[in-house]
Amino acid sequence: MNPTSVVLPAVKPAPSPYLSVVIPVFNEEDNLEELGRRLLGTLGQAGRPFEIILVDDGSTDRSWEIIAALHERHPEVLRAIQFHRNFGQHAAVFAGLAAARGQVVVTLDADLQNPPEEIPKLVAKIEEGYDAVGGWRENRQDSWLRRLPSRLVNFIMSRVTGVPLRDYGCMLRAYRREVVDSINLCHETSSFIPALANLYARRVTEIPVAHAPRAAGVSKYNLFKLLRLNFDLMTGFSNFPIHLVGVLGILIALMGLGFGLFLFIRRLFVGPEVEGVFTLFAILFVFVGLNTFGLALIGEYVGRIYREVRARPRYVVRQVLGGGQDQPGAP
Ligand code: UDP
Ligand code: MG
Repeated sequence: MNPTSVVLPAVKPAPSPYLSVVIPVFNEEDNLEELGRRLLGTLGQAGRPFEIILVDDGSTDRSWEIIAALHERHPEVLRAIQFHRNFGQHAAVFAGLAAARGQVVVTLDADLQNPPEEIPKLVAKIEEGYDAVGGWRENRQDSWLRRLPSRLVNFIMSRVTGVPLRDYGCMLRAYRREVVDSINLCHETSSFIPALANLYARRVTEIPVAHAPRAAGVSKYNLFKLLRLNFDLMTGFSNFPIHLVGVLGILIALMGLGFGLFLFIRRLFVGPEVEGVFTLFAILFVFVGLNTFGLALIGEYVGRIYREVRARPRYVVRQVLGGGQDQPGAP
């Protein structure tokens, strides 16, 4: 069995929809009713077969009850997956992507910060021939404390993936089936889906989307959780931090060498300095530099091994409402 798969009871597949909308939900009891209403309104008008996949990321409030009630009312279009506990927003989106059957898949936040009414715009862009369409948040309605780390992410991700986007953090995005299939083949546990998608999409574009303040509840990201996400990003998509240590090591060693050379020349012309103390320093620097470099080299290998062993299950499913697939965790 594949390590990321979780076997579920077999369920009868429903006919394939054209559009799948994947939404991670973590303690959003006050937003779900309105979210459902607005989504069904917008998607219903678009006149294409669609499905909505709500992934409850181990909510501790009434979210799952509300989701189950929504599923009761709209069993043909609304499917739901419940995690055993909180595995994180991206794990929830991974589960949704694995369950999605549409030719076009849209991801969205549950807190109504991304207006569901923008979905047809994204789908239209995909139909123009793009593989992935991101939204960038016009007049972003978040505090500067929340926006600052996002800037850092955009900068790093643009460099690392080679796809400069202005808003990597915006989860209102659309992907073509092929891109979703590629994402589903990735096993890493901690990842960042918009960046992952850009590794596989050939044509990527961005369109401005509206952004509202959170409708109800509070942001599920505190500074610590954000830091962890950013670190996932950096280590998950590049070995940049450890490269930096390596370069630093080489620089220190070179500086030590230069210093030694300087002392040698100085000795020829001026005579020896105090008891050879500085010569010792120069030698020390060379070795400290080489040590640091060696450490970075080992780090590089450990990093690679770490990448390989990250095949732990990303999430564990407790229950699924609405059929269509056998193994939501499977690639
Ligand atoms: N979310 C989740 N699991 C988590 C944290 C968040 O599924 O551990 C969901 C959350 O319910 C929302 C989306 O991810 O639908 C974005 O979260 P939030 O609005 O708190 O983040 P922010 O808008 O502050 O970036
Ligand atoms: Mg939000």
